[in-house]
Amino acid sequence: MAQPSKFVLINEPYGVVSDPMDLVSLIDRKVSLRMAPISGRHVGAVGLGFSRKVFLGINVELPGLPLHHSIHAEQFLVINLMLNSEQHLTHLAVSSSDSVFHAPCGHCRQFLQEITEASIIQVLIKDPALGIQEFVTLKSLLPRHSNLLPDLLQARDNKLLLVSSEGCEDRLLLRTALAAANRSFAPYSKCPSGVALKDREGQVYRGWYIESAAYNPSLGPVQAALVDFVISGGTKFEDIVEAVLVEKRDAVVSQEKTAKMILETIADPKCAFKVFHCI
Ligand SMILES: [Zn+2]
Repeated sequence: MAQPSKFVLINEPYGVVSDPMDLVSLIDRKVSLRMAPISGRHVGAVGLGFSRKVFLGINVELPGLPLHHSIHAEQFLVINLMLNSEQHLTHLAVSSSDSVFHAPCGHCRQFLQEITEASIIQVLIKDPALGIQEFVTLKSLLPRHSNLLPDLLQARDNKLLLVSSEGCEDRLLLRTALAAANRSFAPYSKCPSGVALKDREGQVYRGWYIESAAYNPSLGPVQAALVDFVISGGTKFEDIVEAVLVEKRDAVVSQEKTAKMILETIADPKCAFKVFHCI
């Protein structure tokens, strides 16, 4: 099975920039990250939060799994913003191995549109005819959109409580997964969930389920936790040796089978996987 080649640490301190055009120099460094073992097409995104901090994103394809399980670079960036409690994005630049500063795909335009105050997001585009770079509004790239609940990045607490912790051997992992589920954004299915992963070194990563108003751009909790793994310097998914999923009891949709399938495909073959329910 193809495995991702090594990629560089992504939580390198990029600091704060005052001029959004500084993103241009950062994007070149970002596209050197390699996490596309299936298509070989490497996409990177660099964004500025309200805090003026720089956040990165790369596309992540999961080796051995169909491409619809992939994380787009812009989605990766949004998860990165969430994990760092950054609630707004002001500027964005996207680049890939075959194109510099292109517009996000339709899937990602919708995903980005669901950030609060998305109308202020500016996207760096290079005009292929004129060869000039300019920022255009996300709104101009997704006109006449409809948006039901545009608050993807807002802080939330779902106030979920565990039904039982029986069988739990790792309290930290369970607490982390529960805390992640409490940040989950699932307004359409009303089935929030969170995942905690542990690697061979004992480092713990977390992610939570995020729903999109267009449904398909929604991102599962394992993918979100993999973003945390990557930005924390994880280099191989096979280093993941333990996982806990927390989701609602008797929910109309469950992450359990999908999470198990993903982990069985990409993580250590002996990766322990446990599910706990909450109300
Ligand atoms: Zn995309």
